[in-house]
Amino acid sequence: MDVDEVVQGVLAGDRRAAARAISMVEDGADALPLLIAGLFPSTGRAFTVGLTGSPGVGKSTLAASLVKAARAREKTVAVLAVDPTSPFTGGALLGDRLRMQAHATDPGVFIRSMATRGHLGGLALAAPEAVRVLDASGVDLIVIETVGVGQAEVEVAKEADTTLVVVAPGWGDAVQASKAGILEIADVFVVNKADRDGAGETARDLEHMLHLGPALEWPPPVVKTSTLQDEGVDELWDAIERHQKHLESTGGLERRRRERLLREVKRMVAERIREAAAAMLEEGALERLADDLVARRVDPYAAADILMGTIDEEAR
Ligand code: GDP
Repeated sequence: MDVDEVVQGVLAGDRRAAARAISMVEDGADALPLLIAGLFPSTGRAFTVGLTGSPGVGKSTLAASLVKAARAREKTVAVLAVDPTSPFTGGALLGDRLRMQAHATDPGVFIRSMATRGHLGGLALAAPEAVRVLDASGVDLIVIETVGVGQAEVEVAKEADTTLVVVAPGWGDAVQASKAGILEIADVFVVNKADRDGAGETARDLEHMLHLGPALEWPPPVVKTSTLQDEGVDELWDAIERHQKHLESTGGLERRRRERLLREVKRMVAERIREAAAAMLEEGALERLADDLVARRVDPYAAADILMGTIDEEAR
């Protein structure tokens, strides 16, 4: 398949083409700019939901529940599970999971885990491009699930239209959550494993913390779920829909998406400059100035100016 075929395939909703395109994103393929150029005009239609939270709180299980809820409402859905911790997850993250197999043959469901093998700039740049592929393929809803709560994962999860922060009972130590910097990014809080003791208390802790902060235009609702007992998922779906309507009615959706695009380009430019600087240094540009520096013929500022002059060329 050449790039044009991949583009046409993705636009026609062909899964194999979409899978191929996401591999191109993971690998940082040379043809990536061409791929994205072909897909970009057909994006911006899917609604995206990000899922973040500590390992073990039930993100994967919740993603499966959201798939079920979406299908029950006749929406097509894609799950993108992003694992930054290992460059070679090879699909083990979600694809193998039994609970997802119920959807394995459903053409309205696309499940894919991704790593970032060769993509320069890592996750922060690769994830939005993978989302773009899924968006262009015509799915209604994209659930972006991240593995942990490291900085990279949080960055990815918050790049969604609606960000769900998932906690489990007992986890609800306010200090820990605010330290991880994830309270600020929540559009909806999910207290999962509500079948366990302490779920009510955790939910109250979160609500209490929200009251302590400044008044918000959208105070994030706190929803209790038990995927085990299939409880609370409809309420969660409703909360997501309410947030979506709120975003649409306040212009927030457009604003978010606009900011997201600008951030993406900013990251790209920063990444290119970083790469160009690294290449320039590797080629010995600094070593060539070393004698002049040591002999005090060139001062450090002047040396930096000289090197900066060459970066511009490299970055193109
Ligand atoms: P993730 O690491 O956040 O993706 O968490 P998983 O979805 O893999 O779930 C971790 C474990 O918690 C699994 O053994 C699940 O079966 C279990 N689990 C998920 N949801 C619930 C729930 O609502 N109640 C209980 N008791 N266990 C759950």
